[in-house]
Amino acid sequence: MSLLIVGSTALDSIKTPNAENPRLLGGSASHAAVAASFFTPVNLVGIVGEDFPKKYVALYRKHGINLDGLQNVPGKTFHWSGEYEVNMNNRRTLATELGVFETFNPTLPEAYRRTPYVLLANIAPSLQHHVLDQMKKPKFVVADTMDLWLNIALQDLLKLLKRVDAFVLNDSEARQLTDQDNVMVALKQIHKMGPKYVIVKKGEHGAILSGPNGIFVAPAFPLEKVMDPTGAGDSFVGGMIGYIASQKGTVDSKIRRAMVHGSVVASFCCEGFGLQQTTRVTSAKIAQRVKTLEKLVRF
Ligand code: AMP
Repeated sequence: MSLLIVGSTALDSIKTPNAENPRLLGGSASHAAVAASFFTPVNLVGIVGEDFPKKYVALYRKHGINLDGLQNVPGKTFHWSGEYEVNMNNRRTLATELGVFETFNPTLPEAYRRTPYVLLANIAPSLQHHVLDQMKKPKFVVADTMDLWLNIALQDLLKLLKRVDAFVLNDSEARQLTDQDNVMVALKQIHKMGPKYVIVKKGEHGAILSGPNGIFVAPAFPLEKVMDPTGAGDSFVGGMIGYIASQKGTVDSKIRRAMVHGSVVASFCCEGFGLQQTTRVTSAKIAQRVKTLEKLVRF
C-alpha cells in the first residue's frame, strides 16, 4: 500500500575529515522516500526552488516516487551544511538556509489525501500538523523530529505526539525530551505523551522499540567504513515504514522485521555521500544484507 512522506527536500553540503561534497541531494524526505521506494509506492510532499538540479528530479523519478506534491517555486532550495569529526559520529551544523521553506504551505493534491501510511519526516511540527489535518483516515502515522524542534517548537511537537501512532527520535533527543538518561524510563515517559510505538535510534548501536508487545532491539548493520552518515536516521525510518506498508498483517506482526529492513537501508546510506550509495542499491542487495544481519543476531 502507498506511503505519503512529507519532510525537507534539500541541498546538503557535507564535510568529513576525508572529503567535501557540496550541494548533494538531501533532506529528511529525500532520504526517507528513496529508502521507502524499495518496498512501496511513495507520494512525496516537499518544496524546492529554481536552483534544484533536474538530475535530482530524475533521481526521484528513477525510484518511482510520485512528485505531484513536490512544489517547485521561485527562490532557493533549502540548503544545509554540516561537518563531521574524525569519529564520524559527532556532527556540527555549519549553516541552515531555509530559502523556499520559509513560506512552505504543504497543500496536498486530492489524490494524496487517502494514502494509508504516513511518514511525517523531520520538518517543523506545525507543517507536520498541517499535513495530518488534510489526511483522510490514515491507517498508520509515524513522526520523526530533531533537537531544533525540541528547542523552539516543543508545544507543537507535544500536540503532534497525541495524533501519531509511532514516534521516532534519537537517544540524545529522548534524553532532552524526558530529562531522563535511562532509555527504558524515557520510553515509558514518551508513551505517556501519546504514541503507541516509540523508537529510539542509537546510531551505530541500532534502535530500540517499545510497543504493545514489549521491547525489541534492532541492531545496526556493522560496517567497516562509514563515508557519510547524513540521512541514516531518515533512511532507517523510511525503510521501516516502507516495509510496513508493503506487507500484509498487523503492525505488531511486522514492525520488528521492518526495523531490521530500515537498519539495512541505513547501512547502505552510510557507505556513500548523501544518497549516492542508497540510490545504487537493489532489493536483492537489501534482502541479502537482511539475511546476514539475521545470522549475526541469532542465538
Ligand atoms: P539525519 O542525518 O538523519 O539527522 O538527517 C540529515 C538531513 O536532515 C539532511 O539531509 C538535512 O538536509 C536535513 N535537515 C537538517 N536540518 C534540518 C531542518 N532544520 N529541518 C529539516 N531538515 C533538516
